Amino acid sequence: MSEERLRRRIGIYGGTFDPVHNGHFKVAEAALDAFALDRMLFIPAFAPPHKRKQNISSPFHRLAMLALATADSPRMFVSTIELESPSRPYTIETLGRLQAELQPVRLFFVMGADSFRDVTSWREYEAILSGYDVIVATRPGSHVGGNGGIAGHLAPQLQKRITDLRGAAYPSSRDLANEDPESPRIYLTDYVAVDVSATGVREAVEQGRSIDEMVPPPVAAYIEKYDLYRKT
Ligand code: ATP
Repeated sequence: MSEERLRRRIGIYGGTFDPVHNGHFKVAEAALDAFALDRMLFIPAFAPPHKRKQNISSPFHRLAMLALATADSPRMFVSTIELESPSRPYTIETLGRLQAELQPVRLFFVMGADSFRDVTSWREYEAILSGYDVIVATRPGSHVGGNGGIAGHLAPQLQKRITDLRGAAYPSSRDLANEDPESPRIYLTDYVAVDVSATGVREAVEQGRSIDEMVPPPVAAYIEKYDLYRKT
């Protein structure tokens, strides 16, 4: 058996997850199926650099909601790798650690189109985009346009890594078998379009509206039980 076939394929889904919501799950499920991933690892961040000024819920609450929401999904896991690290690692450091710890593995980093648009402000973003497979999920409200539109901010050598799967079916098993392990790709996808954001969930709670359509039932129950997102 070739070395490539022995490698596990693991999706890495980083975020604040304040709270995790149905948009995250639909994206994760589609990525698992489309790219034949063995599992998806949700990695809550301590407080991402671009959100440090916001009032983010305790990492314990954010982790608890993720754990509850993934409890019944055999392919979805939560990792405390960033929360347990005293150095508050950047994504590139987390990916490097996981790559070393999970060998033999092929990592697929998942991000929404809004994050992808801002990616040039991330620490060592070129290393992320050229060292790992990246799955970009379109997000309603995020204008993505053609290749130039969504990736116009990237240098030509990174643009060359793009495989635009938007409007297309899942990659075929032949495509997957032909992947070049030495040359990861940036995949643009539009498999799902879920118009939910964590901001929207927090606002709904604050305004006393139902969040039942936005988050999995145990997450809604948790938010209610611990009185999260309600301004006093
Ligand atoms: P907030 O509204 O607080 O900014 P968020 O809903 O964007 O939060 P994050 O935890 O910040 O949630 O998101 C983690 C990752 O998931 C990011 O890459 C983001 O782009 C992506 N993401 C979040 N919601 C969606 C969605 N509905 N569709 C596609 N991607 C999403």
